[in-house]
Amino acid sequence: EDARVRSTATQGARMTTARTSPFPDSTVLGYPRIGPRRELKRALESYWEGRCTLEDLRSTGRELRERTWRRLEGLGLGAVPSNTFSFYDQVLDTAVSLGAVPARYRAGSPEDTVFAMARGTDGVAPLRMTKWFDTNYHYIVPEIGPGTEFAPAGDKPVSEVREARALGLRTRPVLLGPVTFLLLSQAAPGSPAGFVPLDRLADVVGVYERLLGELAAEGVEWVQLDEPALVADRTGAELEAVRTAYQRLGSLTERPGLFVASYFGHLGEALPVLAGTPVEAIGVDLVHGAAGYGFSGQGETAELEVLAGKTVVAGVVSGREVWRTDPQRALAALVALRAHAGRVVVSTSCSLLHVPYDVELESDLDPRLRRRLSFADQKVGEVVELAGLLDAAPLPAAPSVAAAGPATEEPGREVMGPASLLDAAGSPGAHLRVTPPGPVAAAQPVAAAGPVAAPGPVAAPGPVAAAGAAAEEPGRSPYPVRAAAQAEHLRLPPLATTTIGSFPQTGELRAARAALAAGRLDQDAYDRRVRAEIEHVIALQERLGLDVLVHGEPERNDMVQYFAEHLEGFAVTRHGWVQSYGSRCTRPPILHGDVRRPAPITVRWASYARSLTAKPVKGMLTGPVTIVAWSFVRDDLPLRDVVFQVADAVRAEVADLERAGISIIQVDEPALRELMPLRRASQESYLEWAVRAYRRATSSAGDRTQIHTHLCYSDAEQILAAVDALDADVTSIESARSHARILAEPAVAGFGRGLGPGVYDIHSPRVPGVTQVEAWLRAAVEALPAARVWVNPDCGLKTRTYAQVEAALAAMVTAARRVRETV
Ligand code: GLN
Ligand code: ZN
Repeated sequence: EDARVRSTATQGARMTTARTSPFPDSTVLGYPRIGPRRELKRALESYWEGRCTLEDLRSTGRELRERTWRRLEGLGLGAVPSNTFSFYDQVLDTAVSLGAVPARYRAGSPEDTVFAMARGTDGVAPLRMTKWFDTNYHYIVPEIGPGTEFAPAGDKPVSEVREARALGLRTRPVLLGPVTFLLLSQAAPGSPAGFVPLDRLADVVGVYERLLGELAAEGVEWVQLDEPALVADRTGAELEAVRTAYQRLGSLTERPGLFVASYFGHLGEALPVLAGTPVEAIGVDLVHGAAGYGFSGQGETAELEVLAGKTVVAGVVSGREVWRTDPQRALAALVALRAHAGRVVVSTSCSLLHVPYDVELESDLDPRLRRRLSFADQKVGEVVELAGLLDAAPLPAAPSVAAAGPATEEPGREVMGPASLLDAAGSPGAHLRVTPPGPVAAAQPVAAAGPVAAPGPVAAPGPVAAAGAAAEEPGRSPYPVRAAAQAEHLRLPPLATTTIGSFPQTGELRAARAALAAGRLDQDAYDRRVRAEIEHVIALQERLGLDVLVHGEPERNDMVQYFAEHLEGFAVTRHGWVQSYGSRCTRPPILHGDVRRPAPITVRWASYARSLTAKPVKGMLTGPVTIVAWSFVRDDLPLRDVVFQVADAVRAEVADLERAGISIIQVDEPALRELMPLRRASQESYLEWAVRAYRRATSSAGDRTQIHTHLCYSDAEQILAAVDALDADVTSIESARSHARILAEPAVAGFGRGLGPGVYDIHSPRVPGVTQVEAWLRAAVEALPAARVWVNPDCGLKTRTYAQVEAALAAMVTAARRVRETV
């Protein structure tokens, strides 16, 4: 009967394109690229610092690609993707491939062009960077104008196909789809009012047509076009763009099979639109979109009927969490799907970019925890095994896993063996998140049925949620009362200058921490090193004339991991690096149990810093939403409950800092926006509990204590209502890359608290000029009362050098003084 299904699929494919052979039975949507030992990070940074040549960098890239392809093939994966490698970012690569390179960035080689766009060059600011949907990966925002000349440029997708073929491998190139590419782009400066990048769809699709032709000529059988933007609410015009784009690409005569991948949620009203085009394969996320597709337990929804005759690439193994997949649930979903689709391919829910390489490297983890974990290579194993189980599962009755065939008896494969895969089903935390916990998913009941909704990818939250939250967590006086008490107590000038918290993490500091971990340095010697760094940072800030000082966070490897290491309920990995942007990686902790704070965490170093100066020193904490967002989180509790546990730990820390005489406490919540559900229907309830968690963490502070928060992004209009509800006294936000626009936002002008719109971009090594900062500050005091304007960089300084930081902060302080004299 399986053969019957396959031949139907083949016939279906034959109707649209003669070239297409059936999609292999298993694949992944993408794979990590930074290297298992962060080889790419090292190569990039050494190239940028002039320590190696472009040829050296290219050869590291080739080695990593070869390793990836051979690994995936070796793990038994049916279809291996290519073009998932990138020297910086796949959105940026797409812009370059389409020829969408603003003239100011053109450089001698494609790589240098990419780096110029991502990092800027002397005198040229880089493109904006922002978070990739609701993940902690950041992409570079392409700039598209009415005059952008699109033309195929470079040959990255094609050359990777050739490179793989030279190694004896056939691959499926992965491209960002045209609709998502344009929806993620921003209008080039100077574009006429009303212009949106999607207006250029026809031209962009033209370039994709040529690219598909080239790939077909190269013998490529399937191409993956990623369209994650389709899992957010889309307007009728945007859905129409989907229809036109794929109708056109589908009607090409010489082309590979088209596989359109969606992920991070369910397709909703985009599903019938896409299914109505000639694309042969559609990828659905049955982990994060499970509820939307009706896979939250019993049965599936009728909308799946539209998949008849299509190949469905079913993402049943999470590409984002690190828990082992529950094979029974996954298999049940696959079998149910098979009743509707022409063919079912087993896959990951999204690219494995978001998880570390290999749990086998984590020899220090408690074996009881390690058994429950699955990183990229284990997930590939799960996909392959599920494909085997699906193949053996009878049609059409519900599957019995016990009867799934001889494969379940295969002995001796500890992690990826089917026997252990089945074992995982009953263990806590090992469940496939078929119904993701918390309101994020709960509020998405078949959202496909709802009316076509809001324009942007993340719709603006209503202030309603905020009001509800305010009522829930009482404690502090109204802002004007607190502001007066703080003014009296702190006596700060207007346009007070400060930083976001971290100062450069020098190689020496990192080496000391590594030596401590390896037992080569004792705790006392390490503490002396930290103390010396704090002394240095305090002295530097006094010399520069900053008003509110920080201790510089030298003791922290990372703003989340540091807290995870000091809280119960978390485990940290040794090699579990995940790319955040470019060469930057994070090692997300694993939150696997109840969270508790056994002892104060930050009080000691904050107090030490305070003892060194008469100026106020800000205590520095990471907020509950961010700690959870940047960790891999247990899935046996609603996300909200986990966040509240963390909030209680932060609350205890706030109280201890206050008791130690720290009068300004910053609780960073840079990930507040990141966890925002992509569908509007779920956003309000998310914001309600996220805001409540923040207030729970901070509302014990007395009126004289000034609470600051920091957010790493700037879609001010979309988020400021919620930020206002956080009720922090001062908020610093990123804005240097889009300053003028931010200050024009009505939400900024109406912001009723202290606000520090970042005056320079810390992601780039460029040092800002005094006149530029001064001009921005003048604009800021036009928009807000000077007493509520704070002067700070966009974000923490840990990735910069002391030379850059000193020059940049000196310019910032000078500019603030000049403007202060005139207000
Ligand atoms: N306090 C942190 C720092 O300065 C904030 C970093 C962040 O927002 N990502 O490093
Ligand atoms: Zn930040």
